[in-house]
Amino acid sequence: MTDERNIIVIGGGIIGASIAWHLVTAGAKVRLIAEKTGGVATPTSFAWINASWGNPEPYYRLRTRSMAEWTRLAAEVPGVNLAWSGGLCWDLPRDELLTYVREHARWGYDVRQISAEEAASIEPAIRDLPDLALHVRDEGSAEPVAATLALIESARAKGLEVLEGVTVAGLRATSGKITAVRTADGILAADAVVVASGVNTPVLAATLGIEVPIEAPPGLIVHSKPAPKMLNGLVIAPELHVRQTHEGRIIAGSDFGGSDPGGDPEGTARDLFAKLRTFLKGGEKLEMDFHTLGYRPTPKDGYPILGSADGVDGLYLAVTHSGVTLAPAIGRFATQEILTGEPEPLLAPYRLSRFA
Ligand SMILES: Cc1cc2nc3c(=O)[nH]c(=O)nc-3n(C[C@H](O)[C@H](O)[C@H](O)COP(=O)(O)OP(=O)(O)OC[C@H]3O[C@@H](n4cnc5c(N)ncnc54)[C@H](O)[C@@H]3O)c2cc1C
Repeated sequence: MTDERNIIVIGGGIIGASIAWHLVTAGAKVRLIAEKTGGVATPTSFAWINASWGNPEPYYRLRTRSMAEWTRLAAEVPGVNLAWSGGLCWDLPRDELLTYVREHARWGYDVRQISAEEAASIEPAIRDLPDLALHVRDEGSAEPVAATLALIESARAKGLEVLEGVTVAGLRATSGKITAVRTADGILAADAVVVASGVNTPVLAATLGIEVPIEAPPGLIVHSKPAPKMLNGLVIAPELHVRQTHEGRIIAGSDFGGSDPGGDPEGTARDLFAKLRTFLKGGEKLEMDFHTLGYRPTPKDGYPILGSADGVDGLYLAVTHSGVTLAPAIGRFATQEILTGEPEPLLAPYRLSRFA
């Protein structure tokens, strides 16, 4: 497909990178503008790829579709290293765990109840395992910054132009049609603009009078120094979500989004790391390296905002939490909708118009 339109993507986090990659791969002419390539929320993510509990079926379907799209993308883009390690989960009361396994197994998720003995054989380094845990075979994780930069590099090789370290101050439209973005260095003309600017998306949309209702809850993650292999997969325990990265770091948050550190991030990080050390056999040998404090771009009802904004032709919004899980599907479907105008049914529940 060739598309002569001049498309600008604002955002070099995992969402903007995936959309830009899919657009140029489909033959579009694209410029990506980012204050920071690699993203802002993206480097602070726990980066668990999942369709776990707490999601209604349509959202579960979008998430599992995206998990499948990750496998496609990893095969096409060098440097997108995924770990399909599976996950051990017991972060709910017993009755809710049982509801989760029943419901999701019915939907086709590969989740099953396992005994403490089996849990111990999967993760021998965990000190205290519960009587009831679930194991999900197909969950995994990405190294989010590496994946984002790999997508941008691969897209660059296909013709993506990248304007790095550039701040977009606002969007311009004439007669209900997007015409340009405004930067400190001048005006850049555009036939279509994708705003994938994380927590900054509402600020840019507001320059056209469009309200994007999001919140930005904080989340803190602790990172150990690289350590010998201790964990085989994701561990989703009450008050502690843990995985070991490609580099061997053990990273942990007090829930998948990381904990809210209140006014004392240093103290919260120290307490969380102390908990991690007692959680794992041999954990006393772990040394804390650093912690991150990130802000999840979270639309007010908890679900993504994806698609055009009524009243402005050529504007496409893409803002979501769970962006590491959802990036490949969002990239693929946004590209389809922008280039062909054909709406993707899986995205139907996530239009901005639902807030009207
Ligand atoms: C603590 C924590 C844990 C998380 N855990 C998970 C998890 O386990 N699994 C999961 O799937 N998701 C998780 N998430 C959510 C996920 O990380 C985010 O949804 C995702 O990173 C959002 O990516 P993004 O590209 O939209 O935003 P960002 O990474 O924030 O990128 C925004 C981009 O826009 C650019 N930008 C913004 N404004 C401008 C401007 N005016 N001009 C130019 N450029 C601009 C920035 O420079 C940046 O490049 C977590 C998030 C946090 C904070």
